[in-house]
Amino acid sequence: MSTFLLPRNIEFGENALEILKGLEGERAVLVTGGSSMKRFGFLDQAVDYLQEAGIESKIIDGVEPNPSVKTVIKGKEEMLDFKPDWIIAIGGGSALDAAKIMWAFYEHPELEFEDIIKVASMPKLRNKAKFIAIPSTSGTASEITAFSVITDTENKIKYPIVSPEIVPDIAIVDPKIPATMPPHITANTGMDVLAHAVEAFVSTAASDYSDALALKAIEMVFEYLPKAVSNGDDMVAREKMHNASTMAGMAFSNASLGIVHSLAHKIGGELHVTHGLANAILLPYVIEFNYEAAKEKFEVVEKTLGVDSLADAVRNLNKTLDIVPSFKAIDWLDYTEEDFENIVDRMSKNAHQDPCTLTNPQEPTVEDMKKIYVDSF
Ligand code: NDP
Ligand code: MN
Repeated sequence: MSTFLLPRNIEFGENALEILKGLEGERAVLVTGGSSMKRFGFLDQAVDYLQEAGIESKIIDGVEPNPSVKTVIKGKEEMLDFKPDWIIAIGGGSALDAAKIMWAFYEHPELEFEDIIKVASMPKLRNKAKFIAIPSTSGTASEITAFSVITDTENKIKYPIVSPEIVPDIAIVDPKIPATMPPHITANTGMDVLAHAVEAFVSTAASDYSDALALKAIEMVFEYLPKAVSNGDDMVAREKMHNASTMAGMAFSNASLGIVHSLAHKIGGELHVTHGLANAILLPYVIEFNYEAAKEKFEVVEKTLGVDSLADAVRNLNKTLDIVPSFKAIDWLDYTEEDFENIVDRMSKNAHQDPCTLTNPQEPTVEDMKKIYVDSF
């Protein structure tokens, strides 16, 4: 017996943002990242649409990539002041993830961060506000998922928080918004989509429902990501990638993920490698590690794509997208050879404990995790 969980509404297609004009309520908080949504006019557009709906809005900006506990607490204070009945997150996965947890703290100000990182500890939300997610990257699918990833910057650990309560009420999947991403962000976040789809497809918790969405998303990434990266104005490619992202999200929010994500979460926390880039580098190694354990599934993907080896097809795709083949090749990576052993030891142990490890088709040991890190460096 299983549940397949989805947000109530997915508003998609060009200009889907306009549905904000018809929203009913009094006050909305808009949560966003650094500057991109302001710079490209989407934030002002959202404020205008809300005004048309008679809704007063307040902006909480400055959510950083890999959002911190501190940012989330600051957002909570502002929400307690303003008392919104809608929380609208507009931006990349970082802004969406941070807004989800600000929301949880706004609904339950007595909670501490330690309380909600425990499994099944999220109390009921929606007593004060409902939640709209508007993704500006075609990547994390936070607009659809029961996940949020918050970083404890002091201890350099990324915490995946999982609860059906934080699945947004409405997802607005408007391809005009991610169309402003520069090529490298399009490439990295697009490889996050591929990692979601592949990991969900071979997950031990996969179902007929998640399989259909995951397999279609894999096909769409191989066809449209190179086009979206080489020509950012290709609106067909942008729309296909945006939909593929949300579809992969529907798959993995239900089927969960695997050790690409366990390993990527820890290297993101320790060495600040962006999430999509870490996934892109790790994915071919993990496919090889998992191949025998999920052979039939991988063969379905290979047949669908018309390739002999999925791992090699991913390596070629990375090359086409100008993504480096190893962590060492990232020129700004900050670590010394003396630290390397310690860092890898720590990351391997932590990655082994990550919730995504539970549904990986091949059960890994800490040593296996370590070997994948060493190989992919
Ligand atoms: P981020 O939200 O971190 O954004 C990365 C960069 O892209 C920022 O500098 C941002 O700028 C810029 N940017 C975003 N959208 C646009 C745009 N349309 N045009 C131009 N620039 C843009 O990236 P991701 O979406 O990859 O999110 C990564 C985070 O999500 C990580 O913390 C990861 O762990 C988490 N994650 C969450 C999942 C979930 O299910 N909730 C699943 C997988 C990952 P600016 O700040 O100025 O807007
Ligand atoms: Mn991801």
